[in-house]
Amino acid sequence: MKYLTPDYYPHFHCKISQCRTDCCTGWPVSFSISEYFRLLSVECSPEIRRKLDIALHLTEHPTEDDYAMLLHSYTGNCPLRLSDGRCGLQADAGENALPAVCRLYPRGIRKGECSCANSCEAVVELLARAEPIRFVILDLETEYPPDTRIHFFETAGREMEIRLWLIHFMQDRRFSLGHRLAMMGTALRDMDEALSAKDHRRVEELLNEPWQIAPPPLKGDAFPIVRRMLELLKSDSMQDYAEMALDNFSAEKYKGKDAADEKLRQAEPNWESWFENLLVNHMFFSQFPFQDRPVSLKDETEALYAVYAMLRFLTIGAGNGDKEKTTDAIAALFRLVDHTAFDRYAVPVLHKIGADPRALLTI
Ligand code: SF4
Repeated sequence: MKYLTPDYYPHFHCKISQCRTDCCTGWPVSFSISEYFRLLSVECSPEIRRKLDIALHLTEHPTEDDYAMLLHSYTGNCPLRLSDGRCGLQADAGENALPAVCRLYPRGIRKGECSCANSCEAVVELLARAEPIRFVILDLETEYPPDTRIHFFETAGREMEIRLWLIHFMQDRRFSLGHRLAMMGTALRDMDEALSAKDHRRVEELLNEPWQIAPPPLKGDAFPIVRRMLELLKSDSMQDYAEMALDNFSAEKYKGKDAADEKLRQAEPNWESWFENLLVNHMFFSQFPFQDRPVSLKDETEALYAVYAMLRFLTIGAGNGDKEKTTDAIAALFRLVDHTAFDRYAVPVLHKIGADPRALLTI
């Protein structure tokens, strides 16, 4: 079947034992009723059988898609994970024995498109390059049905064109990332008005006429806003990095933008194209701005501003100029952003702080 994918997609490989923050640790694995009964009877060794019988539990409120889960050991590790990082169930009974979430992660398969989540360390490393992401059509075999959409937006039937049009703004390297986001935000506001008015001629115009509007000046101070957001947004995966960054910024370790950028350059000389690729990949993976939740396009934009600001804050403040630490801080941030309804509660948090979301772009 043909899928639109980012060009790194065929090059993704799990790092298994080389992975510093593996997805088998600290993350509950839940699966459907059919997968549960398949795991109850899967052919495997007595050792794996014993571990499965101990770890398999029904979820608190079982539904057909979210029926049971694998309870982790007291170390937070999946009890089926072997010491060499491989999955014991897969090693014993083959890939087909695995629940979909274990087989697919970090891949996301949607109707006609596939991509990977930034919450996976290997994906974050693949995106650390000078070249922008290109989107290509690939012929892919997958027996997994694409995720079915629950929430629908008015898109004049041009959803993918609109999404790639917005990504185009993020890849315009004549401008800084903050200015690109500001321009993308203005463009999406105009598109939102045209879509809400069902003005298809205006939609056509926006998609095909060169963008004439210059980037707006960025003003305000992002640091106090991000600091407050990190204090309010509790996330197990991100907490350590948030505390490290908050401490370092309180100690005024990275005074001024130049010193901050220098820290990032030490970690990755192409840090700006790396961050561009991370934001573009997140936009594609999450189907920005049409995420499968009833969130306004304006709130989706402001949530993306928050992602950018937290990305800069955590990588400068907790990456400390080290490539691995910076990569780990990024993957931790996207565990929160890509796998929770972050876009839904980011803006209420900003309102609670009384912050102007555009100030986030000054970071
Ligand atoms: S986080 Fe990515 S690289 Fe690490 S174990 Fe999971 S899939 Fe593999």
